[in-house]
Amino acid sequence: MPEPPLPVAAIIPAAGSGLRLGGGIPKALRLLHGTSLLDRSILALDAHPAITRIVIAAPPASAPQIRMDLPACRAEVTVVNGGTSRQASVFAALAAVPDECAIVLVHDAARPLVPLDLVGRVIDAVAAGATAVVPGLPVADTVKEVDEGGYVVRTLPRAQLRAIQTPQGFRREVLLAAHAEGGPPATDDAALVERIGERVLVVAGDPAAMKITTPEDLDRAGLLVAQQGAR
Ligand code: C5P
Repeated sequence: MPEPPLPVAAIIPAAGSGLRLGGGIPKALRLLHGTSLLDRSILALDAHPAITRIVIAAPPASAPQIRMDLPACRAEVTVVNGGTSRQASVFAALAAVPDECAIVLVHDAARPLVPLDLVGRVIDAVAAGATAVVPGLPVADTVKEVDEGGYVVRTLPRAQLRAIQTPQGFRREVLLAAHAEGGPPATDDAALVERIGERVLVVAGDPAAMKITTPEDLDRAGLLVAQQGAR
């Protein structure tokens, strides 16, 4: 008999202000073909049958409204107040993840078009024994490190570079230990896990899991949705 799937929790940090996107409302609440980035991210994760719990870190001022307007989901969805940094928002949401969820995903609300098979790839790799898993894409541009004066310090070897996306998947106890350790701010959760000496596996990412940061990104995502047949 096959083992029943491990229950998986998904955290969605959605408390960013979205200053670079503009629009005067939190980024996660911006609409893409009539559906908010947050709702699209919730529904994309809810489509995976192993995800039994979704915890959203919301901008505190919008949390009551988000709670009232949640889309119908198979998973149980809870909304907590996010913090002043992405890291603080994930930490707040982690406290609401029930103990029975041995695997925890963290997925940016700003990546609303994440494909189901990418979510599955990350979950499968953690379920197969990896401690931490991130999706990554090869980098097309040459990447250089520069100093404060704008001069190149060094050129990084492109073949070994990956642009890292979400969802990132973790054994729950490892993500908890990494966040408990704290330290300087990190732009993703895997960086915290690397700091406590755990190995992070990279699986194939997907261009559709692009992060929406600027108005141009929102336009590009709109084109992608139109090509897929508006959802
Ligand atoms: O700012 P950035 O685009 O890197 O944010 C990535 C994700 O983290 C977004 O989904 C954003 O809503 C979330 N975030 C958060 N709390 C913050 C800042 C960002 O949940 N204080």
